This record gives sequence, structure tokens and C-alpha cells, in this order.
Amino acid sequence: MASPIPQHDWLNELKQFQPTPRGAWEGVADADWNDWRWQLKNRVTSLDQLQQHIPNLTEAETEGARLADTKLAMAITPHFFNLIDVDDPECALRRQVIPAIDETFTASWEMSDPCGEDSHSPVPGLVHRYPDRVLFLVTDRCAAYCRYCTRSRMVSNATGYGFRPNFEQQLDYIREHPEVRDVLLSGGDPLLLSDGKLRLLLTKLREIPHVEFIRIGSRIPIFLPQRITPELCAMLKEFHPLFVSVHANHPRELTTEVRDGLARLADAGIPLGNQSVLLKGVNDDETVMKALLQKLLMCRVRPLYIYQCDLINGSAHLRTSVRRGLEIMETLRGHTTGYAVPQYVIDAPGGGGKVPVAPNYVLSHNADRVVIRNFEGKVFEYPEAPDGSPLHPRPASIEEPELV
Ligand SMILES: *Cc1c(COP(=O)(O)O)cnc(C)c1O
Ligand code: SF4
Repeated sequence: MASPIPQHDWLNELKQFQPTPRGAWEGVADADWNDWRWQLKNRVTSLDQLQQHIPNLTEAETEGARLADTKLAMAITPHFFNLIDVDDPECALRRQVIPAIDETFTASWEMSDPCGEDSHSPVPGLVHRYPDRVLFLVTDRCAAYCRYCTRSRMVSNATGYGFRPNFEQQLDYIREHPEVRDVLLSGGDPLLLSDGKLRLLLTKLREIPHVEFIRIGSRIPIFLPQRITPELCAMLKEFHPLFVSVHANHPRELTTEVRDGLARLADAGIPLGNQSVLLKGVNDDETVMKALLQKLLMCRVRPLYIYQCDLINGSAHLRTSVRRGLEIMETLRGHTTGYAVPQYVIDAPGGGGKVPVAPNYVLSHNADRVVIRNFEGKVFEYPEAPDGSPLHPRPASIEEPELV
């Protein structure tokens, strides 16, 4: 991702908020364009439409779009579509939503359910992987489909997964499990539900005394900011403490419309977090990542996670190495606002859950002292407190690193 302009100028350029252009929908009335149902109805969902809008569609994209439904349906809202650079096949936004034939190549280590969710599912649509919280899947539909989706086995129903959630059964499980204090609504995208349906579900969750904390995971503020209506925000506000986790991967996704939608959520008192997926050619670049994280803070969104891309079938062309991810993390801590620094995690293949991975700042640790280095590479010694033998002694086979 070489940039023709100096890094600092590029960073600032990426951080500018721009309105989404109208593009091919130039003649559409504002009332339609700003109506989320119009946006959904007018999504780009076929090869014909793609070819109409993108004259230089690559062969890989053409073949990919033709076969898209074998893995995951294609659907792109006009709002998001217009952020795509139609002249650039490497466009970071284009790579996320336009299929490529590479999706049909699968490696032996790739999986249809890389996080082992189905095997941790006590009732359909509920994943109970961690002791005190559950993932509650409410729908298999999204405003637009991300080509690397970890749940592509079920979302869009392209492969006939047949997701049929039974909210009452899911709620019963939570009612019967007092240890569940945190419920994460996801899917698919929960904000595709109507206000009324969502209100009903949230009301029933809030009636369960041990449910302390509710979160909604949604990419709709990015794909379909029109959905973040004042009515939706007023309704969500009744169910506090309620957090929303959004999913932005590139600074250009944060347009003025997206910023305004996020502001409506924040003004309703909803703390906002972000989860990004590290993607090759999208955000595996320190300047792009830094611009994204700083721009999120300007939208009052606290970056929570950067996920190493899961080993989902057909994702090799979008995966970046863990080494690269660690290099990017190294450019963040200390170099920018602490609030802008998310945790980098690998969802352990097969269902081990989120495991944090970080550059190593502890050079050695024994009963007397800890040797650490800072973001500038300077080495410091901290005398260990008397009870401070390392909790997890290194196996004898691992050498102590050389002291500097
Ligand atoms: C990510 C995830 C959660 C939430 O975990 P946090 O660490 O609280 O963000 C819960 N359940 C499942 C299955 C998850 O994948
Ligand atoms: S919005 Fe989320 S659930 Fe939907 S396709 Fe994208 S990553 Fe998957």
C-alpha cells in the first residue's frame, strides 16, 4: 500500500469526514436515499448490477459474483457501494464486499465454523462459550455481506443452513442460567429487526433479573447509517446499560452520515465500541489502522478489538500474518492515545475463544525483578515485590532473554 504522499499527510487525508457521494443514484429523492428501507430494497445483489456500475470488474470478481451464492450472498447498500473506488480493483472497501473467485479455494486448515460456535450451542441461536455471557443470534440477515464473515456458514442462508431462531427457547436458556449476566445480541445484524421486534426482545431480556449487561453487535451504523433513526435511539435508550459494538475496518467507511448516526447513538447514552478484522489490502498498514482508530475516537467510538481474521473457508486472499498484526500493534501503544489502542485477539480455532496477542514488553521476570521495554525500545528494570515470583514460571526449556 505505497502512498505517493508523505505519511502524515496521508494520515490526515484518511481522517477527513466526507459525505457519501450519490454516484449512480444521483436522481434519487433525498427522502428515498435517507430511508433505510429504500437502501435495503436497492442493494446491489447481482453480477449484472455490478457490471453496470463497475466497468472494469476483474475476472476474479466476475467469476466470484457469478458463484457468490455458493458461500455467501452478495448484497451492498447504495450508501456503501458509493464509497467504492470503481477504478481501483484493490480498493479497500471493494475487497470487503465484492466477491472474488478466491472464495471458492479452501485450504485444509480452513473451516466453515472456525470458532466452533455450533459445538458450544446449547439451544439453536445461542452460543455459551464463556462462563458469564452468551452470544444470542437474532437473525441470519445483514445489510451487506462481508466476504470474510466468520459466520458465513449461516448468514444470508446461501448455503442452506436454515437458521431458525426461537427467541423463547433462547430466553428460557438464559432464564434458567443465573450465571449469564451479559447478553450479546448478534447475527446477522440485530438492527435489521424492526424497532417493535427489537423492543420486545430487549424487554424480555430486561425482565430477567440476572441479566446485567446487554450489547448489540452491528455493522449497520457503517453499512446503513440511515437505520440509526432518532426513534431507534430513543427506544434503545430505555434498556440501559446497553452498549453497541460496531464493525469498521477502514477510515473511509466513516463518512459524515456514519459519524452523525454514531453521534445519535452516543447522545442516547450508548457507549460505543469497535471491532475490526485485520484484512490484507484493507487495513494491514499502520497508517490506515492509525487513521481508523483515531477517527473512531472522533466519533466517540472506543476501539475494543482487532481480530486476526478467522480461518473461514475461502479467506486466504484476505488474511494477513500474525507477525504483521503484531508489527501494527507495536506502532500503536505509546505512539497514540491509549483509548485508541484496541486489543489484538485471535479467536482460537475450534472454539478456544478470544486469546490476546501482543508485542512482548516483558523481557524477563523472576522473583527479584521484571525487565520491561517501552514503546521506544528503552529497557527498564522494576524491582519485584517480595511475593512476586512469577505466577506461571517459564518451562525450563525456555531461555531467559539476554539482558540489555
Ligand atoms: C466475543 C464473544 C463474546 C463476548 O466476549 P467479550 O470478551 O466480552 O467481548 C461472547 N460469546 C462469544 C461466543 C463470543 O465469540
Ligand atoms: S455484518 Fe457481521 S455478520 Fe454480517 S456479514 Fe459482515 S461480519 Fe458477517
